[in-house]
Amino acid sequence: MKLEKVSGTDNLYWLSNKKREQLATKNKTPTKRFYGERTTWIDGCELRIWNPHRSKIAAAIHKKTPISIRKRDKILYLGAATGTTLSHISDINTEGITYAVEISPTSTAKLLTLCEARENIIPMLEDADQPRDYQGIVGEVDIIYQDIAQRNQAEIALKNTELFLKEKGQLILTIKARSIDVSSNPRDVLRRELDRLEDKLTISRIKNLKPYHKDHYITIATMK
Ligand code: SAM
Repeated sequence: MKLEKVSGTDNLYWLSNKKREQLATKNKTPTKRFYGERTTWIDGCELRIWNPHRSKIAAAIHKKTPISIRKRDKILYLGAATGTTLSHISDINTEGITYAVEISPTSTAKLLTLCEARENIIPMLEDADQPRDYQGIVGEVDIIYQDIAQRNQAEIALKNTELFLKEKGQLILTIKARSIDVSSNPRDVLRRELDRLEDKLTISRIKNLKPYHKDHYITIATMK
């Protein structure tokens, strides 16, 4: 097995052999697993395999999207669900913090198991469409990651970037075309969402996440 650091990140590696290349994060809580993920030990260090079919950020990195997450980053995560992707982000920003916003009480309850084991996550049962409700807890952040399947995805992203994203921070936004409009061509839906974002943000990358996630795109943007 060969281990190579993913450039622009901390605690994130390409793990490869002759047959395949996999993404893996260094387990912040060795021997603890959270969602049945596979793990492997190399040189006394436990690595958690990050499956691109289970996480849009992992899919984007597999598709060579330049995503930079550092160990001291403060992150606002909108749509944390039960914490699958969040657990890997928590492996990466070990000295930072992630504010994990989730609207579903059932998912948030499961998320708490992860948060009990990891002090760098603050779970928040909140509506990402009402960011003023959590303005008292979340300050300026380096990254906003949004993975919410709602019709007004771009609007939610804009509200949160205006309140929380620092000057050179990045928005990483997943766009699920079919959640916005099932009847239109996904590319047209994407274009409409990007037009909305471009009023306030500069978009540096757009990536289609196929074959890992059908009709999903990921966008990287910064404040204008
Ligand atoms: N990001 C997760 C992962 O990779 O592990 C998966 C997220 S899932 C596709 C979308 C999540 O967004 C759901 O858990 C849903 O409850 C949540 N959600 C939907 N609308 C929301 C809102 N307005 N505010 C916060 N969370 C929301």
